[in-house]
Amino acid sequence: MKILFIASESVPFFKSGGLADVVGALPKELRRQGIDVSVLLPKYGILPRAFRDTLDFQTSFTTHLGWRNQYCGLETVNYQGIPFYFIDNQYYFNRDVLYGYDDDAERYAFFCRAALQALPKVKLRPDIIHLHDWQTGLVSALLKAHYGQDPFYRDTKTVFTIHNLKYQGVFPKTILTDMLELGWDLFNADGLEFYDNVNFLKAGLAYSDLLTTVSPTYAQEIQYPFFGESLHGFLQKRKDDLLGIINGIDYEVYNPSDDPFIFKTYHIDSPEYKLENKLRLQEQLHLPIDGEIPMIGIISRLVSQKGLDLVGHVLDDILAQDLQLVVLGTGDQYYEDMFRIKASHYPSKLSANIRFDNTLAHRIYAGTDMFLMPSLFEPCGLSQLIALRYGSLPIVRETGGLNDTVTSYNIQTGEGNGFSFTNYNAHDMLYTINRALELYHNKPVWAAIRKNAMEMDFSWNRSAAEYIRLYQKLVNDT
Ligand code: ADP
Repeated sequence: MKILFIASESVPFFKSGGLADVVGALPKELRRQGIDVSVLLPKYGILPRAFRDTLDFQTSFTTHLGWRNQYCGLETVNYQGIPFYFIDNQYYFNRDVLYGYDDDAERYAFFCRAALQALPKVKLRPDIIHLHDWQTGLVSALLKAHYGQDPFYRDTKTVFTIHNLKYQGVFPKTILTDMLELGWDLFNADGLEFYDNVNFLKAGLAYSDLLTTVSPTYAQEIQYPFFGESLHGFLQKRKDDLLGIINGIDYEVYNPSDDPFIFKTYHIDSPEYKLENKLRLQEQLHLPIDGEIPMIGIISRLVSQKGLDLVGHVLDDILAQDLQLVVLGTGDQYYEDMFRIKASHYPSKLSANIRFDNTLAHRIYAGTDMFLMPSLFEPCGLSQLIALRYGSLPIVRETGGLNDTVTSYNIQTGEGNGFSFTNYNAHDMLYTINRALELYHNKPVWAAIRKNAMEMDFSWNRSAAEYIRLYQKLVNDT
């Protein structure tokens, strides 16, 4: 079975969030389990030089976008056994950041059209095209409308994965004819129309054969108005084709017993070495060096999705406790300032690191005792999975993937790998933090919960097998 991922980002080439981690790691595991998989991405200008120099040119052709005729190159590199293909057009993709430009509609319309044009030229004929998020949603619509009778694509099936329903790619309807050469027959409530605009994500939802999202709980939640981002009704209609499969993390990259970024490696049987990571982290961040004081980490995009309003609401109460809080993140100015200003008021308790810093991220996972993630909504969340593996006990709100991966500690049964609360309420969160702090000082109990956490298996092994079952069902159903 041949699978092609089409996505807008992937580690180790370029990353803006968890999507890149998934697209980088899942194909590796699929391959390990015997699947022939390749990945197609845009060739952004920020592609690291080491990869740029090793790209093999495959072919070039012209892509039509209405009246525009644009150059398209196809280049490839083999990384860890996976062929990665890159769609090259300097005008669209040679930019400093990935998204957020006025012409994003045109950029990803180009990407989707060019992708479908490219595959026959290099005789890459997948049984299934697996699409990821709004940037790739048009592929399904174009396949149906332009390639329905094409022998090359006639048997090709599509899977569309929602990594975050909040980002949909909604653009004026004029692009339908101006760039996509799609008929108005697709522009309706069952198609890609969305409040009189074109919605790229909805195109993926409407025309793909199967839909998935990144946790079972989120698959249910998005069928309700609160989480549905105005697409809940549409998703309800397709609920029989919608499956939630939890993401994994790359156990080679996030491995406390073999992590080049942390101060001292450790594993489940030597958690005492975790202490050294804490002391060195305190030293690096100019916090008082004290192994006894509980240390809480936050590593996050600083956006409202992540529950930072709850944190802001009771930040003084949190910092009134005997603890240290380490924040690493970038995002909305409001939250960046909130942490910066509070850090200046509580220099010995709060360390605010407003930047993207992979090394520091690993050190925080390794050095902290707890990891705070009180999200408003969370499709899957990778950070809590990393925290579990590093024995930093997650404190989370019970939503989406957090609900599926973190079980609140139960003192009666000894079960649980962290702490959780249900309502989006700052004092419920505060209560839960205080409960964790109390248990922290009970050393045998804390060690037991940490063991539970570090024993969890959120490698890609199981989830990749679930995707394979889904692919097989789709191929056999024809
Ligand atoms: P999302 O995809 O919504 O941003 P996830 O929890 O799924 O959230 O994935 C976030 C990933 O990005 C994790 O690997 C996390 O460690 C990493 N990350 C987030 N912010 C930073 C930062 N400022 N510096 C380094 N890594 C970060």
